[in-house]
Amino acid sequence: MTEDKENKEVSLVGLTKKEIKDSLRKLDIPDQQLNMRVNQIWGWVYNKGINSIDEMTTLSLDLREELKRYHNLERPQISDEQISKDGTKKWLLKFNDGSEVETVFIPDDERGTLCVSSQVGCTLNCTFCHTGTQRLVRNLTSQEIVSQIIIAKDSLSEWRQEPRQITNIVMMGMGEPLYNFESVRDGILTMSDDAGLSISKRKITLSTSGIVPKIKMAGDEIGSMLAISLHATNNDLRNEIVPINKKYPIEELLEACRNYPGLSNSKRITFEYVMLKGVNDSEAEARDLVKLISGIPAKINLIPFNSWPGSSYECSDWEQIEKFGDIVNRGGYASPIRTPRGEDISAACGQLKSDTKKVRASEKYKKELAKIESKRIGRL
Ligand code: SAH
Ligand code: SF4
Repeated sequence: MTEDKENKEVSLVGLTKKEIKDSLRKLDIPDQQLNMRVNQIWGWVYNKGINSIDEMTTLSLDLREELKRYHNLERPQISDEQISKDGTKKWLLKFNDGSEVETVFIPDDERGTLCVSSQVGCTLNCTFCHTGTQRLVRNLTSQEIVSQIIIAKDSLSEWRQEPRQITNIVMMGMGEPLYNFESVRDGILTMSDDAGLSISKRKITLSTSGIVPKIKMAGDEIGSMLAISLHATNNDLRNEIVPINKKYPIEELLEACRNYPGLSNSKRITFEYVMLKGVNDSEAEARDLVKLISGIPAKINLIPFNSWPGSSYECSDWEQIEKFGDIVNRGGYASPIRTPRGEDISAACGQLKSDTKKVRASEKYKKELAKIESKRIGRL
C-alpha cells in the first residue's frame, strides 16, 4: 500500500473540530486560514451530510484534491438493517476492526429517538441485561459514536429536511458511557454543536448504571440530561442485579444525583426502573422508591423487562406495572411506562446483536450462553 493510500483511510465523518484541525496541518494551508477551513468542512460534513469531498464547493479545486489524498467521507459499514411494523429501525454497524454495535431509531408521535452505543459490549454485568453477557471488546472512539447519528440520518434521508425525524438522542445502546468518558463527552459536544448536527443538550440523555465519581464530571463537562439505571430500592437487591452498586451504593448514587450540576425542575433526572416480575415490582418497593428520591427533581421511566435467550427473569404483569406506576405518580413523580417498541425486530437495546449472533449460531457462543446461565442459576 502506498503512503497516500494508507493516509486516505482517515474519514472526516465523526471527527471533532480539534481532530479535523490537527489533520489539516498536514495540508498546505496557511495557519491563519485553518479555523475557517475547519468550519467550512464542519458544515459540509455535519450540516449538509455530503458523501464526497468533491461536493465541498467552498474549497478550491486544488484544496479538495489535496484533502482527498488524506481523507474520505466514509461511514461505518452497515452489517444489518431491519425495520419494524411500528417504524422502529435498527442498524448493526461494523467498524474497521470488525467490531460491531447497534443503533436503534424509535419514531413516536412528535419525536424520534436515536439510541446510541458507547462501547462494544460492557464490562458490567447487570443480570437482566444481555449486553452484560458479552465480553467487552473495546471503547468506541468519539468518531464511532457520532458516526451512528450520521448513518441514521443517511438512512432516514433527513439531511437538510425539516421537520427533523431524529429529535432526541439517548446514550442507552451498548456499553456504560461513563466508563468511556472522554469519547462520550467529545461525541456529545460534536452532536450538539450549533453549526453542525445541532442537537440540543436538553435533547441528549446520558444513561448510567451509576459510576458515582463521573456523574459530577458529566454535568460539568458534558451538560446533557442524565438518566440513572436505578432498578432497585435497597442495596441488597441492587448489589445483585446492578453489581456496580457494591462499589457505589444507592446512598452515594443519590447524593451525586442531588448534586448534579444544573439540576432543576426544568432539568430533571430520569430514573430508569426495569420491571422484573417478583423481583423489584411490589407496591412496597414503589413506595420506597418515592421516599428514596424525595426532593430530587425527577421522573421515573418504568421499563418492561425485555427478555432474551438464556435470561432467568420475566417481565412484570402489565397490571402490576400500572399499580407500581400509580403509586409513584401519587407520590408526585411522573412515571411513564416505556411502551415496548420494535418487538418484531427485537429492537430493545442489547437485542440486535444477540439476534445476529443467533443467526450465525456458532457453537462457541451457545456454550458461552449456557455457562452464563448456569452460573446465574448457581448464584440464586
Ligand atoms: N449502561 C448504561 C446505558 C445502557 S443500558 C446503563 O446501564 O444505564 C440502557 C437501559 O436499558 C438501562 O436502564 C438498562 O438497565 C436497560 N436495560 C438493559 N437490558 C434491559 C432489558 N433486557 N430489558 C429492559 N431494560 C434493559
Ligand atoms: Fe452494562 Fe448498562 Fe447493560 Fe448494565 S445495563 S450491563 S451497565 S449496558
